[in-house]
Amino acid sequence: MKTNPAPSLRASPCPKGLSFGWGRLAARFSLMTAALIGAVVLSVAITVIRSQKGLLELESRERLDTVMDGVARIAQESIDASDELMLISYLKHLRRDRPELALAEVTRRGRTSTLGAPAPPTSSPMAGGTLSLQPRPRPAPRLITLTRTAVERVAVTYTVKTLPSGDQAPEVSVSSAGLNLKVPGDAVLTRTEERKPLAVVVRLGFLEDSIQSEISRRLEPMVRRIGAIAATFMALGWLGAFYLGKLLTNPISALTLAVGAVGRGKLDTTVAEDRGDEVGLLEHTFNEMTTRIKELVDQREDVLHTLTHELNTPLAGLKGYLELWGDRKLPPEAQAEVLGTMTAAVLRMEGSLGNALRLFKGPAGQGAGPRKVVWVDDVFTGVLAILAPVASSKKIAVHPLPSEASDFVVADEDTLRQVVSNLVSNAFKYTPEGGEVRLGLESGEGEVRFWVADTGRGIAPEDLPHIFTKFYRGSRPAEGSADPGQRIPGSGLGLSIAHKAVTSMGGSIRVESEPGKGSKFIISLPRVPAQTEARQETP
Ligand code: ADP
Repeated sequence: MKTNPAPSLRASPCPKGLSFGWGRLAARFSLMTAALIGAVVLSVAITVIRSQKGLLELESRERLDTVMDGVARIAQESIDASDELMLISYLKHLRRDRPELALAEVTRRGRTSTLGAPAPPTSSPMAGGTLSLQPRPRPAPRLITLTRTAVERVAVTYTVKTLPSGDQAPEVSVSSAGLNLKVPGDAVLTRTEERKPLAVVVRLGFLEDSIQSEISRRLEPMVRRIGAIAATFMALGWLGAFYLGKLLTNPISALTLAVGAVGRGKLDTTVAEDRGDEVGLLEHTFNEMTTRIKELVDQREDVLHTLTHELNTPLAGLKGYLELWGDRKLPPEAQAEVLGTMTAAVLRMEGSLGNALRLFKGPAGQGAGPRKVVWVDDVFTGVLAILAPVASSKKIAVHPLPSEASDFVVADEDTLRQVVSNLVSNAFKYTPEGGEVRLGLESGEGEVRFWVADTGRGIAPEDLPHIFTKFYRGSRPAEGSADPGQRIPGSGLGLSIAHKAVTSMGGSIRVESEPGKGSKFIISLPRVPAQTEARQETP
């Protein structure tokens, strides 16, 4: 039979109806993955920027502390030198150098000197109950205020009065650890300060906005760099996500297309099997499924064609004979012969239908009826009784089984009858008029052997290897045959069905044939099939 090479579907542009479905799946997968990648990259970028900002804030805080330490040192020096102006002029310089230093206050003996403007006074627009047209006052700038205190160094006098006991004198020693006084007895320590020390408190106010904008200025290039790296990662991630989405959905789209094609009747559709994962398994299963469906459909089509052909010819003959009979145009002496021919035609149609039905049911053995003890000689007798008119119409001498030849097998009776019927009807069909057909049966150990031999046209050696193949028909009568070149009708199913049935029963079928002399089909069957034995052994 002619078969077109099966088209194999790879991912290709989807037809209109399909593109939406698989495209949406790919897009959904890609978007979800891209969103995930975006969220991860963004959160990493934000964490890095936050930590960088924290570092910059710490750094600027340390710088302010350094400024404050310098101010404290100058304050101490100004106290030591009793030079109040020294501190004030230092602070003035500092304000000039550092624009962010908005306020400097020095408190000494309860008196506060202020450098720079403190927070501007807030004035109400409805001052005194009248509407003021003054511009809205600016909000007071936020300040970071830091304070340092310097204390005057004042001499302290310590007086020790000792009341020694016994004759031991107090001991004084000086070491790196300090002064050590050892008094044996009572002692009184008096501490006298020259005067109350002077404390100078310096409070500086730095503009928070200016410090923050300095931090932002230094942070900006870092943010840009981190942003660029994050954008690159995101772009790469999104590209990967879209590629992955397509990669995952491509085989699904190919399968969707293929399923659609099968649905439209293109049964020879297959998909490329190029993956080792679950989708690959699905592709493989799909291909197996379409191959099987194609086989079944082909087989049924073949059977239908063959059957139509098989039934048409005998039906036409039957119709012709019936018309002759109805018109009373058949001479009485020919009626017996015509009856035989008509019976043979009916039997042939019955045989063809039986074979076709068996084929439709599936492989031989499947769908077979229950197994039971079947007497092979009884089966032969039954088949011969049905086919006898065919033999007599061709004047074939039939040699049935000798009466002592009797044995049984455990099998499905209908299947066995079909096998025997196919062999006997073939023998009658391929044996010319006046020929002989001989049946035989032999009991072996655990098996039964039986055969159908004829003196017909025989089988050409080149046909012999193929005659059990479904739909195979012997091409021509064997050379030297007494039955020259006549094409005998048939379906090419009989022997293939017999072969499958016998094999499923655990037996074998073979043929011995000599062109022009005849053929002998020999079947060997186990008396009890292996499966049944196993079942019987189980209690
Ligand atoms: P069919 O008889 O319908 O063609 P079968 O499957 O029964 O189909 O037989 C296949 C072929 O084997 C036949 O076409 C014929 O060439 C050959 N064959 C079968 N039985 C015989 C026989 N008894 N003698 C000669 N040729 C036979």
